[in-house]
Amino acid sequence: MPGFADQYGIEYGLPEADEIWRGRARTFAQETLAANAQRLDREGRFSRRIVAALGEAGLIGAGLSEPTGGGASTLAACAIAEEIGAVDGSARGFLAVQAGLVLAPLSTFANDTLRERWVPGLIAGTSIGACCLTEPGAGSDLGAIATTITEEGDEVVIRGEKVWITNGGVADILLVFGTVDTKARTRGLECYAVPADTEGVHTEPMPGNELGHRASDHARVVFKDVRVPKTNRIGGERSGFSIAMFGLEDGRLNVASGAVGVHRACLEQSIRFARSRRQFGRRIGDFQQVGATLADMDVELRAARLLVHQAARLKDRGLDNAHAVSAAKLYATEAALRAATNAIQLHGSRGYNDELPLERHYRDVIALTIYEGTSNVQRVILSRNLLGKDEGRGE
Ligand SMILES: Cc1cc2nc3c(=O)[nH]c(=O)nc-3n(C[C@H](O)[C@H](O)[C@H](O)COP(=O)(O)OP(=O)(O)OC[C@H]3O[C@@H](n4cnc5c(N)ncnc54)[C@H](O)[C@@H]3O)c2cc1C
Repeated sequence: MPGFADQYGIEYGLPEADEIWRGRARTFAQETLAANAQRLDREGRFSRRIVAALGEAGLIGAGLSEPTGGGASTLAACAIAEEIGAVDGSARGFLAVQAGLVLAPLSTFANDTLRERWVPGLIAGTSIGACCLTEPGAGSDLGAIATTITEEGDEVVIRGEKVWITNGGVADILLVFGTVDTKARTRGLECYAVPADTEGVHTEPMPGNELGHRASDHARVVFKDVRVPKTNRIGGERSGFSIAMFGLEDGRLNVASGAVGVHRACLEQSIRFARSRRQFGRRIGDFQQVGATLADMDVELRAARLLVHQAARLKDRGLDNAHAVSAAKLYATEAALRAATNAIQLHGSRGYNDELPLERHYRDVIALTIYEGTSNVQRVILSRNLLGKDEGRGE
């Protein structure tokens, strides 16, 4: 069956080189992910084979510069995330962490030894990375991170607890954020690369059954007197917050692109159903209320994709895109959640079980409005940028 883009002539407007990446990701999603996504979700199983296949297809390191990475533009990386996200939210979530939160900072800020040791395997999908920011007492508020980093000779000692760490239980390398000065909040943060087999690293699955992303690995990771060389620091002294923001900007754009993919999948399936399902002697799509829902889903999809592409194009032109990334993440993830809800309503009872992937998309997409900065946090960033500093404060 032709895709939505082919059937309805959506203009992606991608340059030829980016279109090649999009096509490659689309083929991969349809040939490798589509056959497994529903089963892995039902089994709640993380698949290393999918990771290796993503690496083999060149999709993990696509956005990193050549010769190590694929040299694709940010726009192409977004198109890849959209295609993967349209089929498999767990695989797209893996990609956001491995490419955005781990590879981007590691390949940009780590020393040569760390880069040579870890980057090729992470790109190939033979190694797995995780990014450890969140703690029981520090979610949106990274200044509250309580994991401590203490210098001892040529080493640092890391002590603390991280939760909700994607890939945490399967990772080979962990990027761990801790503080060297608990009173300094974000200005005291540093980031260290910690091999997962280092003595004192303990991981266990998050307790409870998760709503979505069931084919992902989410772990609690405890660091008990974990020693690594000082040279394992990523970036400079007390640069942890800017390293986190660097990774999160990449990751947030990946999440927003994945949301566009979910949205598109929900709309495509809804159009198919609205054309074929008949009630009261006609196609349900011909009832004005159903048609209007489809029209709204279409407009919101186009708007979300434009926001994502605008943020990507700014980065590709070397311009600051932080505000645009927050706008894209906020809008695209919330629009995708509305689209998933509408798609299930529109399918009636047929949307309510896992014969179709809609209920999986619905369960998966909620997390996109939470991780890598909740919707409220994106609103905080946007409004803070709009208002600027309060010059009259303290008067
Ligand atoms: C599936 C999944 C995967 C994840 N993967 C990772 C990972 O790989 N690595 C990692 O480090 N973390 C990960 N996380 C954690 C995720 O980043 C946090 O859940 C997220 O940052 C929010 O933190 P919190 O859950 O502690 O919520 P809190 O920060 O406690 O927020 C609770 C509520 O308060 C609101 N709130 C908080 N502060 C403000 C404010 N200033 N203004 C307005 N509202 C506010 C929030 O929007 C939210 O609605 C993952 C989470 C999930 C669900």
